[in-house]
Order: sequence, then structure tokens, then C-alpha cells
Amino acid sequence: MNAPVPPVQTRAENLSRRFAEVYGAEPDGVWRAPGRVNLIGEHTDYNNGFVLPFAIDRSALVAVRLRRPDSEPEAEADVVRLASTYAPDGEALSRALFSIGGLEPGGVGGWAAYPAGVVYALVHSAGAAVPGFDLLLDSTVPVGAGLSSSHAVEVAVTVALNELLELGLDRPRMARLTQYAENEFVGAPTGIMDQSASLMGQAGSALFLDCRSLDSETVPLPLARHGLEVLVIDTRVVHSHADGGYSARRSSCERGAAALGAASLREVPAGTSLDGLDAETRRRVRHVLGENERVLQVVRQLRADDVGGIGTLLTASHASLRDDFEVSCPELDLAVDTALAAGALGARMTGGGFGGSAIALVRQEEEERVRAAVLAAFAERGFPEPALFTVLPADGAGRVRVTWSRGE
Ligand code: ADP
Ligand code: MG
Repeated sequence: MNAPVPPVQTRAENLSRRFAEVYGAEPDGVWRAPGRVNLIGEHTDYNNGFVLPFAIDRSALVAVRLRRPDSEPEAEADVVRLASTYAPDGEALSRALFSIGGLEPGGVGGWAAYPAGVVYALVHSAGAAVPGFDLLLDSTVPVGAGLSSSHAVEVAVTVALNELLELGLDRPRMARLTQYAENEFVGAPTGIMDQSASLMGQAGSALFLDCRSLDSETVPLPLARHGLEVLVIDTRVVHSHADGGYSARRSSCERGAAALGAASLREVPAGTSLDGLDAETRRRVRHVLGENERVLQVVRQLRADDVGGIGTLLTASHASLRDDFEVSCPELDLAVDTALAAGALGARMTGGGFGGSAIALVRQEEEERVRAAVLAAFAERGFPEPALFTVLPADGAGRVRVTWSRGE
């Protein structure tokens, strides 16, 4: 069974109360930003290709209060105080502090780099005047599982400040700003997919995103109506070569595009002969070209209301990521193979690879069997126990209205 996650409304009310205890004043509001699962389209984003993620019903909540210049010491006017309920063992909160005037790339470490990156992007890329603020974070997106807990944090801070400071930024612009925050401030060479899903997702739908034009469309994903679930299998492993592997794959793709005379692999038509490439580059390119085609095929099938039918494409994506792109690992392969053997309609690793999570498309009545089979297989191989939970396509980020008053 899923660990029970309280409704967002309850979480937001609790967070507001906790905020008042921590900072001695009520927050100006609470904002929510979901994590995401990528249904299909892996390692295509930085190749200007297609992706099909969906926002999930697990989210980061932030309670925020802007500093009041007239009632607080002037020296603290541009100070940002942060606290998260995700804290080291034995500690109630993980706390951090920075001042906006002194922000420079790489200058803030730990989790505070994400909110600081957003502030940096708002100031340096959007030209916003950002005052100091207090923030309390609580997230139900598992950290480091490939469900983009980091973007949930960034997007929650972005939508909060956009509203509080009346910046009027639209969602595609906010997506680009959080990418700027990651790339320029945090120093992670990530694409645009995760924050787009978190910002533009819609309940019951996936987000079909063209990473070249940044055009996006929602595509229906009516899992429940088809008696289906998406089961996440978080392997809880991250292999140490994940970062190096990611940049090596990016360079292979760039080399492949250059050798084929294209600006990016998106400009290489499906069916182009890859014979002139060395064997490794050919495999990498073959994955990306095939994966773009699979995304388009999944979109066509979902539009034709054939949700169960996408299973084989998910499984084909995994085979390509494992054999051609070589970013899977024994834990992910075991999760996928076991889920399929136990009756899943399709399964694949999701996210960058070398650990993190797999997803399986399962019929509701077979979910328990798939879970049990995966747990047993991991135990038998002596792998760490995976975390298993289902996710639903949820709405993108926004404000949570909190109706409570102290003393009631
Ligand atoms: P992923 O985004 O796949 O979960 P990352 O390594 O990109 O993994 O991001 C995880 C990091 O995001 C954490 O190490 C932490 O710095 C930050 N983070 C995510 N959620 C929280 C949280 N609830 N509280 C504090 N930091 C968080
Ligand atoms: Mg991340």
C-alpha cells in the first residue's frame, strides 16, 4: 500500500501553523508545485526532441512571507531565511540563510541553492526587485528518486514570488527561469522538461512537449477510466557514475549530430543511415531517433484512447535505454523485468538512469501482484528494498488557499 499522503489542503494548513511557530508570524500564502514522472521520451530533451511527462500527486509546498521593510530591521531587508521539514536524522528542520545582494553562482550550497537560484534568476534574468523573505518547505516528492524533487522546490518558490511580487510571468517564462537557475546558479546542465511538467501539467493528462520550440499540449491520460495505474518503483540507488554518464551521453549525441551534419539530433530524419558513425555513437543516436518516434506514437495512441496499448512502447523504450543508450543498471532492469513477468502492460526506467525509478503500467487488479513480485525479486538479489507507490497525473503548480485562523 502507498504510505498515506494527507490531502494538500491539510498539509497546507499544517504548514501555515508550523510557519507561524518557526518565524513568529503568519505566512502571506502557501504554494504547491508537483514532481513529475516522465511517461516516455528519455534523453531526448537535450537533443531538442519530444518528451511526454506528467505532473504527479506528490508535491513541494512552500509557505512564504515577504519581509516588511517598515516593521523589521533594515539590516535584514534582503535576508532570506529558509527551513525544510526534510531534515537530517534527529533534527526537526533543515535551516539555511542567505542575502540576496551577495548572491553569485556556486555561492550557496546544499538545498538552499535551489531557492537561491530562483531568486538569482528573477533578479538577473527577469530584472525583478526581490526583497528578503521567510520560507518553510514541506515536500512529498521523494528526494533523489528521479521524480524531480529539486524542480518541485524551484517551481514552488517561483510561483510564490511571481504572485507575491506581481511579476506577471507566464508559465513558459517561469519554466525558462528555473532552467536558468539550474544551469547558471546551481551549475546543473539540465533541460526544460521537469519544470515544464511541474508548471503546465493538468490533472488526468500528460504534457506533450517539443523541447525545440517549447510548444506544449496536454494529451489525455485517463488511467482510472481504463482501470490502470502507474506504479513507481524507486530503487533507492544512485550509482556514482550518474553525473559522468549523463555528460558523456550528451557529448555522444552532440558528436553524432555533428557527424550527420545536423545542428541537433532533432534535425536528423528517422530512417537516416547511421553507417558512417562509430558503433557506440550509432547506438546512442539510434536510441534518440527511435525514442522521438515512440513519443509521437504514444501521443497518437493516447489521442485514440488506447491507454493500455502504450505499454509495449514503454517497454521498447526501456530496451533501447538499456541496450543502445546504456543508462540502465541491474536494479532498474530487475524492476522492469519483474513487473512485466508479473503482468504489467509495460515498464521502463524513467529519468536519467543509473538508478532512480522505474514505472510500470499495470491493471488495477494486478497491482498488488506486481508489487509483491518486485519486492520478492529485490530481496532475493540482495538489493535494497525499493519504495513502491502509485501516482496520478495532477495539476501543475499554483496557490493553495488556506482557511484557518490561529486559536481556533
Ligand atoms: P531529484 O530531483 O531527482 O529528486 P536531485 O538530486 O536533482 O534529485 O535533487 C535532490 C535535491 O533537491 C536534494 O538533495 C535537496 O538539495 C533538494 N531537495 C528536494 N526536496 C527537498 C526538500 N523537501 N527539502 C530540502 N531540500 C530538498
Ligand atoms: Mg533534480
